[in-house]
Amino acid sequence: MTPLEEILRQRIMVSGPITIEEFMATALMHPRHGYYMTRNPFGAEGDFITAPEISQAFGELIGLWCAVTWQSAGAPDPVALVELGPGRGTLMADALRAMATAPGFRAALTPWLVEASPTLRAAQSRALGDAGAHWCDSLNETPDGPMLLIANEFFDALPIRQLERTPAGWRERLVGWDEQSERLRPVLAPAASPVEGLLVSSVRSAAPVGAVAEVAPEAVALMRRIAERVAAHGVAALIFDYGHPVSAPGDTLQAVRGHRYADPFQDVGKADMTAHVDFGALAEAARAAGGEVHGPVGQGDFLRMLGIEARRDALLATLAHKGGDAAAAERIRSGVARLIEAGQMGTVFKAMAVTRPDDPVPPGFEGSR
Ligand code: SAH
Repeated sequence: MTPLEEILRQRIMVSGPITIEEFMATALMHPRHGYYMTRNPFGAEGDFITAPEISQAFGELIGLWCAVTWQSAGAPDPVALVELGPGRGTLMADALRAMATAPGFRAALTPWLVEASPTLRAAQSRALGDAGAHWCDSLNETPDGPMLLIANEFFDALPIRQLERTPAGWRERLVGWDEQSERLRPVLAPAASPVEGLLVSSVRSAAPVGAVAEVAPEAVALMRRIAERVAAHGVAALIFDYGHPVSAPGDTLQAVRGHRYADPFQDVGKADMTAHVDFGALAEAARAAGGEVHGPVGQGDFLRMLGIEARRDALLATLAHKGGDAAAAERIRSGVARLIEAGQMGTVFKAMAVTRPDDPVPPGFEGSR
């Protein structure tokens, strides 16, 4: 039993089964034993790999996207460049480097990194050097005013709640303790819960008996705050994640360890735990808060529109010029292919932007409405 399983067992013995939300938040973010708090999970040696770790072109194009979006919104100065959950800091480092071509933007911006994990804050600080970055625990701590916000694989780490449709109606799925097998396991709440009210109406009424549906209260609340801020003070948010464009039933809670799927209820705190992002619910929250939503579009289409193939060719040309080897060239090619090809990360991953209603459509989303 891991230390977190013991902590959760004791909690459940005292006050009964806990919500999936509490389970997930504890597994990932417990101050001492949470998955993200204790380790650097990225890369070949870690548990999973993310887009900025696959190719530098990802962060570079996002940096240019920010510069163009800022320019066409009237170039507000100062502006906060906020990243939610920056991991190893690679995306921000690549984005800032690409902004050397937009000196006005670089001079106007201050990077803000929203990161809960001390281990990852240290990695980000090493990646960013003297970029003048600030760290904080939540978006609320960043200064009010114009903001460009980026988030890659952040929303999928925010805790969800699950409901199951039974013949008697929707019941919340909770996490209980099984004495016999000495394991955490999902159990159904005996009575209805007000959380059912968070389901979108189509899912709530149309899902068959046995269906599982998810809600992400924290993600929705955060999206609302982001859109409110963009609407009030200007500029934009750009969000990448894997998920579905329209709300639909499905149990998407998953754990990944050493690049393989694992049982979420075992080895708690030692595996990454995520859920698919419901872009339909996020878009609805952003619109309700006064934001204009663009997309979601497939990550592959978005990156192609931004010119990732030209950037790949430029990287290959520079490498050839420096006398680089064939293996390095192959890494550049396969990295970009992985980001954009359907069947790899090109379609499952989506990009969605939020702007002010009167601002122009940002790059990569032309024709998406
Ligand atoms: N964006 C990075 C990392 C994605 S992993 C990349 O693309 O490589 C998720 C990141 O979000 C980690 O840095 C994790 O520590 C952070 N994180 C997750 N939940 C958080 C929360 N509730 N508050 C602050 N940071 C969080």
